Amino acid sequence: MALFGSALLALMSCLIPVETGQAFIIWAVRVAAILGTAFLIAYLIRVPKDPSMKERMASVPPAADILCPFCGTQMQVLSGTCSCPKCGVVRI
Ligand SMILES: [Zn+2]
Repeated sequence: MALFGSALLALMSCLIPVETGQAFIIWAVRVAAILGTAFLIAYLIRVPKDPSMKERMASVPPAADILCPFCGTQMQVLSGTCSCPKCGVVRI
C-alpha cells in the first residue's frame, strides 16, 4: 500500500506543470518521491518473507502431557498412539 502511494505521488509530481515560482519545490518533491519509491522497492526485494505456517508449526515442541487436557484422565499409549481412555482424544 505504501508502495502504491509512493508511486502515485511520484507520478503525480511528474505530471504537475512546473511554474517559475515553485520550480524548486516541485523538483524537490519529484526527486524525493522517485527516490522514496526506489528505496521502498529495493527494501521490499531484500526483506525476507515471513516463514510459512508449516515452518512455524515445525518449531512448536510436541506435547508431553501425561494427563488429558480436556478431562484430566491419564493418557494411554497403545501401539504408539497416545489417547485418552475416557473421552477418546488422540494426541498426534
Ligand atoms: Zn480425556
